[in-house]
Amino acid sequence: MLVNLNEVLRPAKKNQYAVGLFNAVNLELARGIINAAESSRSPVIMGTAEVLLPYGPLEEVSYYLLPMAKKASVPVVVHLDHGLTFDICEKALRLGFSSVMYDCSTDTYEENVRKVKEMADLAHSYGATIEGELGHVGDNEGSAEGSSHLEDPSKYFTDPSLAKDFVDKTGVDALAIAVGNAHGAYKLPPKLDFERIRTIAKTVDVPLVLHGGSGLTNADFRQAIKDGISKVNIFTDINVAAVEAEFKKFSSMEKGLIDLIPAAVEAVKLATLEKMKLFSSDGKADLTSQGNTPMSADDLEKITKLVAAEVAKYLKN
Ligand SMILES: [Zn+2]
Repeated sequence: MLVNLNEVLRPAKKNQYAVGLFNAVNLELARGIINAAESSRSPVIMGTAEVLLPYGPLEEVSYYLLPMAKKASVPVVVHLDHGLTFDICEKALRLGFSSVMYDCSTDTYEENVRKVKEMADLAHSYGATIEGELGHVGDNEGSAEGSSHLEDPSKYFTDPSLAKDFVDKTGVDALAIAVGNAHGAYKLPPKLDFERIRTIAKTVDVPLVLHGGSGLTNADFRQAIKDGISKVNIFTDINVAAVEAEFKKFSSMEKGLIDLIPAAVEAVKLATLEKMKLFSSDGKADLTSQGNTPMSADDLEKITKLVAAEVAKYLKN
């Protein structure tokens, strides 16, 4: 079933596990991801990112991701990762993506707040969710995300006190944080600032997102999730697993591409399954908060104000 981020991340935050985002820029990736989710009864987030659009245009990706998500026996979020422009995020929402990330993390703080708030209102009007980023997650060399190499990444770490202000002002449903993580394959072992994760998790209510998950150790993941991470983005690992399997199969290939497709699907499934078990999202498919999400005090206050305003208008006429 197609769901949004709140439906899979709120129970994850509450029960201290994380849901993976796996990018699915082609059918083999999408099938491997869905197979892994269904076979382990795990909720899952799949999608694409603006920098991956040259490998699969947004419309084309939506033609298979959305029906596959709807047909799946487990909750599936179809998410646009790192939307860099208003137009691409809006297009994803129009196509039916249930979630978008609007990454304005390279803008000034004020611009980040202004742009993300505008997109949050739009996404919510579609019943979709939105992720924002505060601080800046840099890139390792050759990362699919781009090339923002940072000389001193700690200068861009998320400031916990700003995080609360950012979430309150924008209305984001999930927050990507910079705590020593980076996109792509790491050259040197990364060192995560777990203390910072704990502080931010205590300061803001919304689930926290760890980008650049490929290359962290299993112990890093377990600790980060224990400290308050509810969503982890994975791409490099499944991207490489698929091509390694195809390469291996190539030597015994008989009929051509059709020998390689199932090999890639199976490899993606196995690599995804491994992460789902590591993040403890396996067996959690029935824990979605779909339909019974208690209304937050903030939402209740907003609705009360809206109703009061409408009543006042009516009485004036
Ligand atoms: Zn990212």
